[in-house]
Amino acid sequence: MNPRATVFLGLGSNLEQPLVQLSRALREIHEIPNTALVRVSSFYDTVPIGLAEQPNFVNAVAELQTTLNPSELLSHLIEIEAAHQRVRTVRDGPRTLDLDILLFDNISMNEPMLTIPHPRMHERAFVLWPLAEIAPELAIPGRGYVLELLVALDVSGVRKYEERAR
Ligand code: AMP
Repeated sequence: MNPRATVFLGLGSNLEQPLVQLSRALREIHEIPNTALVRVSSFYDTVPIGLAEQPNFVNAVAELQTTLNPSELLSHLIEIEAAHQRVRTVRDGPRTLDLDILLFDNISMNEPMLTIPHPRMHERAFVLWPLAEIAPELAIPGRGYVLELLVALDVSGVRKYEERAR
C-alpha cells in the first residue's frame, strides 16, 4: 500500500441544482476506497471566468487522506463526474460537476492525464478562497503561500454561502 497522502480537491458546478450536485459529490467522495474525507470548506457562489454567458458556479474545496496514487484517485473522480452526467462541451463552459485534484502532498507531476499542482489554481480566487478557509498555512509548490496568492487576486466575484445545503 502507498503511504498516506494529503490531497486537496476543487469542486464546482453550475447546472442542475449546483448545491445539490456538490453535496451529492461529497457523499460519493466519502465512499472512495482507501480514502477519508477530512474537511470541507464552505460553499461559494462565484461568477464564471472565461465564458461569461452562463450561470454562476458553486465552488468548494475538500481535504482528503488517501493511500491511492494520483491516477487511481483521478479514475474515481472521473467516475463520479460521469455519474453526474457531466458532458464536456466548451472549455470553461457550464458543467454539472467538475472535480480537480489541486494538490497531492508535495508532488509535482506533469503528465498528459494529470498535472499537479493544478496548473491554474494559483490564479483562481474561487479555488484559493475556500482553500485558505480550510488550510490557511498551506503553500502551493513552486507558487507560494495560498493566503499571499489570494490577497493579490480580485475576489469581487466570489461570495461565501452562509449555510451549506446538505
Ligand atoms: P476538465 O474538462 O477541465 O475537467 O479536464 C478533465 C481532464 O483533465 C481529466 O480527464 C484529467 O485527465 C485532466 N487533468 C489534468 N490535470 C488534472 C488535475 N490536476 N485534476 C483533475 N483532472 C486533471
